Order: sequence, then C-alpha cells, then structure tokens
Amino acid sequence: MKVRYSKAYLLPQHLIRMKLHWQMLIALVAGAFVGVALPEASPYVSWVGEMFMNALCMLIVPVIFFSIVTSIAGISATGLKRIGVKVIACYAGTMLIAALTGLLLVNLIEPGSSVQVEHVVAVPDRIAGATLSLKDTIVGYVPSNIFYAFTQNNTIPVILIAFLVGLVLPKISVAGRSALEGLFRGGLELTMKQTKIVVRCSPVGVFAIIVGQLARTPDFVALLQVILLYFLTVAAGLSLQFFVWLPLILRFGFRVNPRRHLKNMSLPLLTAFSTASSGATLPLTLHAVEHNDGVSPRVANFAIPLGATVNMNGTALLECVAVIFIGQAYGVDLSIAQQVMVVAMSLVCAVGSAGIPMAALVMMAVILNVAGLPLEGIGLVIGVDRLLDMMRTALNVYGDTCVAVMVAKSEGESLKIDR
Ligand code: ASP
Repeated sequence: MKVRYSKAYLLPQHLIRMKLHWQMLIALVAGAFVGVALPEASPYVSWVGEMFMNALCMLIVPVIFFSIVTSIAGISATGLKRIGVKVIACYAGTMLIAALTGLLLVNLIEPGSSVQVEHVVAVPDRIAGATLSLKDTIVGYVPSNIFYAFTQNNTIPVILIAFLVGLVLPKISVAGRSALEGLFRGGLELTMKQTKIVVRCSPVGVFAIIVGQLARTPDFVALLQVILLYFLTVAAGLSLQFFVWLPLILRFGFRVNPRRHLKNMSLPLLTAFSTASSGATLPLTLHAVEHNDGVSPRVANFAIPLGATVNMNGTALLECVAVIFIGQAYGVDLSIAQQVMVVAMSLVCAVGSAGIPMAALVMMAVILNVAGLPLEGIGLVIGVDRLLDMMRTALNVYGDTCVAVMVAKSEGESLKIDR
C-alpha cells in the first residue's frame, strides 16, 4: 500500500522560489497576523527587523553620494540644467497637486468639527520641542564639516556635497578626474551590489518589522474611533494621489502603462509601507527604477536620491489636512489666505522633512507655530499616525518613481513600461 506523505515540508521551498513581490506580500500579511494574534512573540522577532532597517540605513549615505556624483559628473552642463529643471518642476507640481487634494478634502469633509479636543495625547518632547526656526533649518543644510555631515542621518548636506563634487569633478586635471571617477563609479557599483543582498532579505525583514509595530500599538482601534473621519480624509487623499492623479499623469502625459509601473515598484513600495522611511527604502527604489522600469542611470541616479529627500507627496498632503483639521477641532476658522499659507508651508515642510518615521509630525510643529495654532493639537493626530505614516511613505516613494519615469520619457528614453 502506498503511504501518502504530507507535502508541508515543501512549503519553504515554494516560498523561496516565489517572486519577490509575492514573498513581500505574504511577509506583510503574516507579520500583521502574528503581531495581532501573538504580540508576546514580538521581542523574539523584532530585532531581526531592526537589523534589516540598519542594513538599509547603512546604504543611504553611500547611495546618495555615489549616485548623485556620478550622475552629475556624467551629464553635460546644459543637460544637467535641463534635467534638473524638469525634475524640480515635476516634484513641485506633483506635491502641489497632493497638497491641494488634501486642502479640498479637509474642507469638504470637515473632520475636525465633530472632534472633542480632550482626546489629545501627550506630545513627545522631541516633537513639541521642534521649534527650530525655518532660518536655522536652512542654515543647517550647509555643512561646516564634511565628515560630520556623512555621519548624520540628515541627507540634505550630503546631497549638497555630492552636487559640489559632481559639478567640480569635470573641471580638475585629467589624471585626478579619471582616478576619482573610477573610484566613485566603483563605489556606486559596490553599493548597488550590496543593495541586491539586502533586497533578498527584505521579506524576512518586513515580516519582523510589522510584527514589532503591530504588537506596540494595542490601543490603535480605540484611538481610530475618536478621529476616524480625519483618518479617512487623509487616506482618501493619499489614495486619490496614488491611484488616480499620478497614474493618469503617467498614462496620458507620458504614455506609459501605470499598472506595470506599479507592479515593478512593488518591492520598494511594500518596504516603504512597512518601514515608514523613504530614506531607508532609497536603495531599493533606485534599484527598481533602473532594473524593472529601465530608466537610465543618468536620470534615476539624479532624480531618486534627490526625491527621497525632498519630494514627499504624502507628507505635503498630510501636513495640509492635519493642520487644518487641528484648526477645525480647536474652533479656529482659517481664512482662505491662511489656508493658502498652510498649503505653502506644507510644501516647504515636506521638502524639509527627513525620510524617516514620524518626520512629518516634527515639521507639523513648525507650521502650527507659524499659523498660531496650539501645539497640543499634534496630540490629536499622533495616535493614528503610524498607519498614516506607512501609507504616506509609500506615496512619497511612489511619487519619486513617477517623476523619474516622467523625466526619462521627456528625455526620449524608451522604457520597459512603454504603452
Ligand atoms: N515617514 C515619511 C518618509 O520617510 C516622512 C513623514 O511623512 O513622516 O517619507
């Protein structure tokens, strides 16, 4: 008689052979399940997630530096100006659309009018204390010490240094230039190879991060009930930008297939969602845009690292909705002129936000200060911010990839997602 064995032992092999984006989805769902059903397992798992985050963060500075230097040094002065103007115009345009979408929804839905302000949660010092003036923030972008700049997780100074190096490199002697160019190109190649290794580990890393996060937020449902309308307003705005406006621009403005683009970006998007850090996702974003969509390195290496730092569609939208929501909740009616100011400040603060979790809340303190609204208002929104942070970070990253595609198409490149 034949004995039938269970094939369960084959499951790990099936999982390993699966496409990476399926592995990521399974990791996300399994992580959510374990985080909710078995929160006590979190301490045994979440350290793996921290290691994964560290591995991603370790790559941020080299990716930014090497990719920007090699891209700028390889583009002629006129080409650089043309691509630079296009990238910045696309970033500004898409962020403005996001902020205006938020403005429209928050005025239509008025989520703050039915909220009781006694539900505020204490605001952590690192957020409430963020009263650094705009001037100090901008002055801090120019580093006084290169080595110090490289050791901080503030990426704007690194971008500035990379720009300077890339601009000056073609002007030095041939011998010096070829030695340094080889070094920088080699550095970029090395970093991207390391990224590939991290990519392979991402399902495990994402699983561990999600378990840790869900186990930490047990009162999420209770908080959500209090400000459900605010949550829905932000989620609706993020979805509109993610699923409607950006795909429409890609399809009709640049004749690419947005569905294929979305599928190609699934790995960085799921990583952005689970880590809530567009900075940590940067190496994967760059890898996906170049390898899956076929965007040329000269555009991708310039647009993606810059975008991970300055282009934040989701953050701009959230700032705008949250600040007006807080105004509504505290009974402060903002005039049209004040709302326009909030939109402008949301854009500036989104540009200034670091690509790390909860960066938007730090910047929100700056806007509330300028708008004369109570800082405790952040306590109203902070409880549900983790999930919104995950969603807006995915949009932040998606916005960067869309702009890279737009600029590549406008430069006449043929991509793997052409219609
Ligand atoms: N977490 C976001 C990012 O990394 C920034 C924020 O909106 O808090 O893109």
